[in-house]
Amino acid sequence: MIGSCLCGAVKFEAKVDKLKIYQCHCTLCRKQTGTASSCGAIVNLDDLVWVSGENNISKWEKCTGFTSHFCTTCGSSVPNKFKNSPYYWAPAGLIESDDIEVAANIFVCDAAKWSKVSTKTNPFETRPEVEELIALLCAKNA
Ligand SMILES: [Zn+2]
Ligand SMILES: [Zn+2]
Repeated sequence: MIGSCLCGAVKFEAKVDKLKIYQCHCTLCRKQTGTASSCGAIVNLDDLVWVSGENNISKWEKCTGFTSHFCTTCGSSVPNKFKNSPYYWAPAGLIESDDIEVAANIFVCDAAKWSKVSTKTNPFETRPEVEELIALLCAKNA
C-alpha cells in the first residue's frame, strides 16, 4: 500500500495486505489533525519503506513528549517511529487503499461532544498498553 502526503513530497510503502487502525480521540490528536480523531496504523519497522521525502519531515515535540511529525512542505501528518518499540505509527488518511479497518478506539472519554465518529470498536477509556494495541492491530503481521 502506498501512502503520500498532500503535496506528494513524502511517500512510503506499507508492505501489508490490510491495515488495521485505531482512532485516538484525545485533545492533543484533535489539535494535531484538526479533526475529531486521529486515525493511525501501527506498522512493523521492516514493513514500512520510504519511497521519497524522508528528509523533508519536520518534528515538533511537546514538553510532555507528544510529538508531531509532518511534511515540511505541506504540513501533512506523516509516519514516525514509536519511541520504545519497533513500530511506525502511520496516519491512515495518507494511505491510498480502502483495505483499512478500524480495530480500536482510545481516549474515548476525551472524545469531542460534537463528534459523530464512532467509538464502538474495542473502546479504551484512555491509553491501553502499547502491547495490547499492537495485539489488536498487528495480529495478522505477527
Ligand atoms: Zn507534503
Ligand atoms: Zn491522541
